[in-house]
Amino acid sequence: MTVNALPHGFCRDCLAPADAATRRCRACGSPRLLRHAELAALSLAHIDCDAFYAAVEKRDNPELRDKPVIIGGGKRGVVSTACYIARISGVRSAMPMFKALEACPTAVVVKPDMEKYVRVGRQVRDMMQALTPMVEPISIDEAFLDLAGTQRLHGAPPALVLARFARQIELEIGITVSVGLSYCKFLAKIASDRDKPRGYSVIGRAEAVSFLAQQPVTLIWGVGKAFAATLASDGLRSIGQLQTMERGDLMRRYGTMGDRLYHLSRGMDERSVKPRSEAKSVSSETTFDTDLSRPDDLVPVLRALSERVSARLKKADIAGRTIVLKLKTADFRIRTRNRQLGDPTRLADRIFHTGLEMLKRETDGTRYRLLGIGVSDLTDAAKADPPDLVDRLSHKRALAEGAIDSLREKFGKQAVETGYTFGRGRAGRPPRDSES
Ligand SMILES: [Mg+2]
Repeated sequence: MTVNALPHGFCRDCLAPADAATRRCRACGSPRLLRHAELAALSLAHIDCDAFYAAVEKRDNPELRDKPVIIGGGKRGVVSTACYIARISGVRSAMPMFKALEACPTAVVVKPDMEKYVRVGRQVRDMMQALTPMVEPISIDEAFLDLAGTQRLHGAPPALVLARFARQIELEIGITVSVGLSYCKFLAKIASDRDKPRGYSVIGRAEAVSFLAQQPVTLIWGVGKAFAATLASDGLRSIGQLQTMERGDLMRRYGTMGDRLYHLSRGMDERSVKPRSEAKSVSSETTFDTDLSRPDDLVPVLRALSERVSARLKKADIAGRTIVLKLKTADFRIRTRNRQLGDPTRLADRIFHTGLEMLKRETDGTRYRLLGIGVSDLTDAAKADPPDLVDRLSHKRALAEGAIDSLREKFGKQAVETGYTFGRGRAGRPPRDSES
């Protein structure tokens, strides 16, 4: 890369250096030039995918590309994500669907496909982790990255590596991201939101305090609606006002939150990027129409839920090491039991049998109103279910399950019923799937 020293800036499209005098890139003509005096000194980034679910659906169905698209619906009937075209009409996340369709009657509503989004989110995550191990995921589609000390590895400074990364995501995954670059998490996150979509925004040390002075207090991490109202009743609306206040005064008024207001209002944020593997789980649960206590009633439900969880793991190409059984008693007490396996699994059969062992101990006459099964400690499917030489039976079961899966794929879910679930499809309300 040609710009190790980053004289003034660079072009976000072709990465050629850009000096201060040009409005367009001298190499490719693009107007997307990035210039900032601290470009070479900053390494803490927040990367956020733009309208993530909607972007994935548009990628997979080009007919949607130029249409307003809303991801959502289902039971709760709220907007999960709106594409930028729909946002022009005023559609926002968490808006009730009927309101969204009032605002944008031509919108195409697409039901969310969480497994797919998890899969794409993981691809993005993997590409981040190729840049640095210092990746802290915040949600399925955003993360903090600390690129300090990676210049030699990449042959380019962090600012440029991030532009290259954004371009790579567009080319290889087919969605767009926005980048925020700063010296701390607080400002990196604010920066990534400033220039969406396809944004790249930089907040340096020199302008941090003056930039923050003009912002509302709600921009501060932890200041929600209720706390903002408290601050407003004390006459505090802008971060600039907080900058004039003493630390002791803020702490007397607002306790530990006062300490945070003092520091963040001045752009002081010591939190480091903490790499974290995804602490996620995939689970399914169902509430019964009438409380159940007999194993004969509970076991088929466990089997059906295990198959549901397994199908979702397989679809997302992931597996998990810990099986979690959840029961809610008739008097609303929750019992969770878990067991760790030697190897991660995504097989319905292993999930079911592990759950069954735990369930046996809980079927002591207690009446249950809810049963759930889940898998946590998620990892790549590549490490899951190695051919088990000791337990050849389980290997055979795995092979059989593969055959059942392909039959189901061909002929639909109902085509193959195992002995346990046969005829027991309606033990209660429809199962609820969740990811946490
Ligand atoms: Mg996002």
